[in-house]
Formats: sequence, structure tokens, C-alpha cells
Amino acid sequence: MENEFRKWFGEKRGRKAAEVFKEKGWTAYYTETLEEARELLFASCLPPNVSVGLGGSETLKAMNILAELRTEKYRLYDRYNCPDHFEVCRDSLMADYFITGANALTMRGEMVNLDCSGSRVAAMAYGPRHIIVVAGVNKLVDTLDEAITRVRSIAPMNCRRNGHKTSCAETGICAEKLGLDCNIPDRMCNQLLITFNAQKFAGKYHLILVNEDIGF
Ligand code: SF4
Repeated sequence: MENEFRKWFGEKRGRKAAEVFKEKGWTAYYTETLEEARELLFASCLPPNVSVGLGGSETLKAMNILAELRTEKYRLYDRYNCPDHFEVCRDSLMADYFITGANALTMRGEMVNLDCSGSRVAAMAYGPRHIIVVAGVNKLVDTLDEAITRVRSIAPMNCRRNGHKTSCAETGICAEKLGLDCNIPDRMCNQLLITFNAQKFAGKYHLILVNEDIGF
């Protein structure tokens, strides 16, 4: 059951964070529900007849946008249905729009993401003409230090989700926190991107903040 104080807290932080991200050059929105976010995405953020790349994301999965993106309205670089994942991720770097979740967002308007291959953070940094980030308020933290702590602490879940053969995918605890090495091909924590500001290219970065706990 939804907790009214949690909803209140999420709304206060979500609305405030959207304002701060706007000051940093983002086109930022706040929505109460993921369904509203979905409607906003297709009605106002993503025009038809564009190419679209995707970042791997539990939030986008929960948003249920894949079937719509696979229609003739869009040219989807479909990372979930392709003969060569590496090549699709490369093609996605030149998409008109790249839609993704985020690992952490700060109340100061910074975004932090941690990747294995770097295909998602590469697209977030440069390449696609537009980036659309969808994130639940559970991704909001106060400081950059907390954001980096957050992205490291959720990595075991990403390892498990993606079938990576790491010790953390079994134990739920980062090997490095136990003083062990994680120097293996399946290591998740390879590429860290901090997006401090979105002023460089006006209109490029979009954020939809949702007052729900989505993904992890
Ligand atoms: S460094 Fe290795 S063990 Fe630690 S969270 Fe990342 S993938 Fe898991």
C-alpha cells in the first residue's frame, strides 16, 4: 500500500530536483506516476519518424515502451532483438534520441551512471541528438559522494540482472568491499560518467522524474 508520507516526500524532492535540473540546462518534468511519464514521453518528448536507441533499464522495462517503439513510427535500434548487440549499441550512439534510466541523480542537478561496456554512458555523453532520462525519485540523493556510493552499491543487482559471472551476483556484496579483487571480464563497474551540467547543447537533455520507486 502506498504510504502518504513517502509520496509527500517524493513529491517535494522530485519537484525541487526538476527545478534544479532545469537550472542546469535540462528540460525537466515531474510526474506522479510512471503511466503519466509514459504519456508525456510519447506526447511531448519523442517525436515520430526518428531513430531511437535505448539504454538497458529496469525503469524503461516497467514503463512498457518497447512495443510502441517497435512500431513503424520509429526506427528503433533494438538492443533486445538483434543479431549483434555490440553493433546495435554502436549504431545507437548516432540515434536521434537515446532513452535511458539513470543510476543516481543528485538534488544539485548532477547525474551519475556506471556501466560495464560503456555503451550507455558513451551515448549519454555524446552522439545522440537528444537524451531522455526517466527515473523514479528513489534515484535521488543529496550529494555527488552519495550518488557514487549509490551506483557502486546497486552494481550487484545489475550484475545479477545481466547474468554477469561475478561474486557479487551471488553474494549481493561487492568483492572490493570485502578487500578482494574484481579483475575479471564480467566486471560491471568499469565506466563511470558524471553529467555535471547540460548547458552545452540547448534542448539536448530531458529528464522525467517520477514519484514512484522504480528499478533500483
Ligand atoms: S566491482 Fe565487481 S564485485 Fe564489485 S560490484 Fe562491481 S562487478 Fe560486483
